[in-house]
Amino acid sequence: MSECCAVNKPRSEVPAVMACPVCGTRSKQVDTLTVKSLVRHLRFGAPPTQYYFCDAAGCDVVYFPLDPAAPTFRRADLWVRVGVKELEDSSLVCYCFGVTRGNIRDEIQRTGKSSMAERIKAEVKAGHCACETKNPSGKCCLGSVTREARLALQSAPTTIERT
Ligand SMILES: [Zn+2]
Repeated sequence: MSECCAVNKPRSEVPAVMACPVCGTRSKQVDTLTVKSLVRHLRFGAPPTQYYFCDAAGCDVVYFPLDPAAPTFRRADLWVRVGVKELEDSSLVCYCFGVTRGNIRDEIQRTGKSSMAERIKAEVKAGHCACETKNPSGKCCLGSVTREARLALQSAPTTIERT
């Protein structure tokens, strides 16, 4: 995994992982900057608590707070659609470079493999990523891109030669 988003180091005084209050999925900390960047009605005031990102596909919760008095943010509260929670081909997987699930599938259907992770890695190396303020998870998207490509390869027609 790349170091591009190593800014999200867990703070020691709060739990690194919390269970989503709605679906129970173990959720990792998300940086306040990410919450402020993506929640549409926060303006200047992000609640002073640690937030966690629920990445479960069936759950409407996106960010939930450590402090139960602070608001929970759901899908409709964000500027962007949360790709990991949607199944459409137009859902974004890589927010920095605008790669959708459909882009990954199309390439696999055309060529039998995926070069997206490599291409994104090259852009990240060149310092062009901004996952912290663009990706709802606040983390680098490479893991998700690799996972989507693997899923798409598994469901690709068997006529395609796999490498
Ligand atoms: Zn959840």
